[in-house]
Amino acid sequence: MKPEPALPGPPRPSDPSEQEPMLYCPSCNARLAELKCKLICQRCGYYMSCADYY
Ligand SMILES: [Zn+2]
Repeated sequence: MKPEPALPGPPRPSDPSEQEPMLYCPSCNARLAELKCKLICQRCGYYMSCADYY
C-alpha cells in the first residue's frame, strides 16, 4: 500500500470514473474502450462520442 494524503472535504461515494477515464456500458456493464473521441463497448457494440458524455 502506498501512503495517501488525507484530503479535506466531504466524504463521497467511490466513483471509479473519477479515477480512471474508463466508463462502463449502460447496457451490458462491460468496460468501454476509449478510442479517440469515442467510448466503445467491445462486448455489445454500444458506443458514445465525447459529445455525449461531456
Ligand atoms: Zn455493452
